[in-house]
Amino acid sequence: MVYFIDVIIPVPLQKLFTYKISAAEAQFLKVGMRVAVPFGKSKIYTGIVYHIHNNAPVAYEAKDIQQILDDSPIVNDIQLQLWNWMASYYMCTLGDVMRAALPSAFILESETVITLNTVKTFDESILKDDEFLVFEALHHQSTLKIHDISNILDKKNVLPVIKRLIEKDAIIVEEEVYEKYIPKLVRYVKLHTHFSSEKELHNLLDELSRAPKQRDVIMTLFSISAKTKKPVKVSDLANESGASSSIIKALIDKGVLEEYHIQTDRVQYIGDETENSKLLNEAQKTALSEINESFKTHQVTLLHGVTSSGKTEVYVKLIEAVLEKGKQVLYLLPEIALTTQLVTRLQNYFGEQVSVFHSKYSAHERVEVWNHVLRNSAKAKIVLGARSSIFLPFNNLGLIIVDEEHEQSFKQFDPAPRYHARDTAVVLAHMHQAKTLLGSATPSLESYFNAQQGKYGLVEIATRFNDVLMPDIELVDIKEKLKKKRMKGHFSDRLIEEMTETLKEGHQVILFQNRRGFSPIVECKTCGHAPQCPNCDVSLTYHQYRNQLRCHYCGYHAAMLQDCEACGSQDLDNKGFGTEQIEEEVKVLFPDYKVARMDLDTTRGKYGYEKIITALEQQEIDVLVGTQMLTKGLDFRNVKLVGIMNADTMLNFPDFRAHERSFQLMLQVAGRAGRTEERGKVLIQTYNPHHNILQQVSTNNYIEMFNEQMNDRYNFKYPPVYKQIKVTLKHKDYNRVETASIWYAKSLRQVFKENILGPEAPPIARIRNQFHKNILVKIPKQQSLAKTKEAIIKINNSFLSVKDFRSVKVILNVDNF
Ligand code: ADP
Ligand code: ZN
Ligand code: ZN
Repeated sequence: MVYFIDVIIPVPLQKLFTYKISAAEAQFLKVGMRVAVPFGKSKIYTGIVYHIHNNAPVAYEAKDIQQILDDSPIVNDIQLQLWNWMASYYMCTLGDVMRAALPSAFILESETVITLNTVKTFDESILKDDEFLVFEALHHQSTLKIHDISNILDKKNVLPVIKRLIEKDAIIVEEEVYEKYIPKLVRYVKLHTHFSSEKELHNLLDELSRAPKQRDVIMTLFSISAKTKKPVKVSDLANESGASSSIIKALIDKGVLEEYHIQTDRVQYIGDETENSKLLNEAQKTALSEINESFKTHQVTLLHGVTSSGKTEVYVKLIEAVLEKGKQVLYLLPEIALTTQLVTRLQNYFGEQVSVFHSKYSAHERVEVWNHVLRNSAKAKIVLGARSSIFLPFNNLGLIIVDEEHEQSFKQFDPAPRYHARDTAVVLAHMHQAKTLLGSATPSLESYFNAQQGKYGLVEIATRFNDVLMPDIELVDIKEKLKKKRMKGHFSDRLIEEMTETLKEGHQVILFQNRRGFSPIVECKTCGHAPQCPNCDVSLTYHQYRNQLRCHYCGYHAAMLQDCEACGSQDLDNKGFGTEQIEEEVKVLFPDYKVARMDLDTTRGKYGYEKIITALEQQEIDVLVGTQMLTKGLDFRNVKLVGIMNADTMLNFPDFRAHERSFQLMLQVAGRAGRTEERGKVLIQTYNPHHNILQQVSTNNYIEMFNEQMNDRYNFKYPPVYKQIKVTLKHKDYNRVETASIWYAKSLRQVFKENILGPEAPPIARIRNQFHKNILVKIPKQQSLAKTKEAIIKINNSFLSVKDFRSVKVILNVDNF
């Protein structure tokens, strides 16, 4: 009997590849194990066994495999089922899915770069001869590729050696290594509560008259608190009073001053390391029982709860119940940055059972989580992660929570698979017969529509926890303010007033501007010329901090111009504004307060994001200026005022979802204000205060927004009423892509008639020197999705067989966002 295996290889080719194996190998191998296989002339790939059988391939002679890499499967049947679903739903290959799904350390291949593991001191005696050769070579040369190692060992089959070296911690597969962020603890002091009465304080000062230095420290403490109305750091106290740390320590030892760390109470949990979950209030209790009731008839339920309604605590109760049944929980978040706060919160309840998984983790950490999940170990009962965690090898999933389900970052743009993690999660849960809970204060139209149609259950929480009032939202008409000369730069008098008051009270302010840099357009006042990116059809953004002009699409940058490229005039004007400019203006308007900025430019560094969040929590920042990064579910307790600098650019963005998104964005930023006792205030500056979306934001009227937007979606045949697939064609030659897209659209139109839109150039028609054309396929609900895709694939195949079009890149994006 001759044995064969079909193998998935991480390449974008439609089919599986068949290899020959021996009878003994057939005995040993199981579906889901890795094998090293030769591919093409000289390449070696890691493949996943998909099928074991006895049918020789017809079209080619099957090669032998090189090596079996696992003792047991690392991918289970449900995962393979999910990969299949993704490949067919999102119109990509199993290889594309495999590459996205497996941690890179699992996919050793010719291209893999290997370096020494310098973290560990290493005992060379445990290495076998061939392993030692590689290890030693890495002392002369910092990186090696697989084929280098082939040369060193003078054999082809080197993956097993590399695998063993990785397991022995001798080498690592190169990638950006991500270390855990440990926030620094800042020491603060306050007067012991014992001295809070007038009388006790008097006695204390009397007593200290014999110790004037200590007395000075106390007086300085008073004056700092009176001035800043904020917690006093030990370092500030020492600086201002000129006292040595031993004097301050003496006061702490005496019990006059009390020392504390803000980091430890960032989420303000009172209690031990692992504490009991909170008692739910009435609204939360009702929601919880409604969710459980809804799960009896629905596999998916949407929890629509206003910001700060305490959704997380409801999730916690659901998680507890699932854990009791011995099942696993997947907790999906749109962006991993968010986890900083949430991890602490969940670890307080569930301790070690929480694992965090995301692409920024080192290969080692990711493999570790993967293995914990695979073995259903106690350490990974709850996995908290961004979209790629849907790929983990769950075998006993009981619940998936998709928090902030409306977030567009759940959808992967590039590369394939262009999947939506929320929708994929629903499919994955179904395969496990598990439940899915979608949560949001501003649900996507898709999910709310599904709930309205009865496809999903719907549960609502309309009040904030502790009956904190929803923030008071005020619209400021900047056209009016300009006319009356009541603007200073980009700040209206109302915003300045509110900021002044908030800061005086010792509270914090968040300012939102959805554009980074200083100004998006630099324009010559004489001839009107604006510098453009040489690679893309966009004007360059001025970044004052680096005195550069930068392209936000391809990264191109150049020094800021002194004079106009076209006419030489020195009269250059900045149009529009970004976060940098706002930060500058705040510094001038409020010189006594600390301003920081949170956008792509300031969070690039390893811990950029965490540093800013920690600084805000520790009240080292008074005013935080930022882009939409600010909107992400963060819980800051001292923020009382939120200013939205300009609502109009969001609303006017050329996309059918622009209005829905603006609504979500504004309500989410607004939700950062006043999350404790005091009611928050939100000011929205706009040229168009009567815009329906702004009215709906200011009254927190989700339903009105939903109905109105749905109306548009019906009229213009957009999702969620119609499904859609976007076909994008790219080429560096404009004429080529033009002809190709006309051909493509014409072929589609023959099948789908009026449900084809385009070809059209997107708002930015050229990016990285590639011209783009979009064609939209609109798919009515009653039309078969599978048949539609079949037809598109057929057209795509004939397209690719036209010689002139072969070099045109085609991207199929299902449910495009
Ligand atoms: P959401 O996720 O809906 O925005 P959170 O779950 O973050 O809201 O809750 C808002 C705040 O209220 C958090 O600081 C949380 O600790 C607190 N909170 C929520 N529910 C409870 C509860 N049952 N008991 C005590 N505090 C709660
Ligand atoms: Zn000019
Ligand atoms: Zn560019």
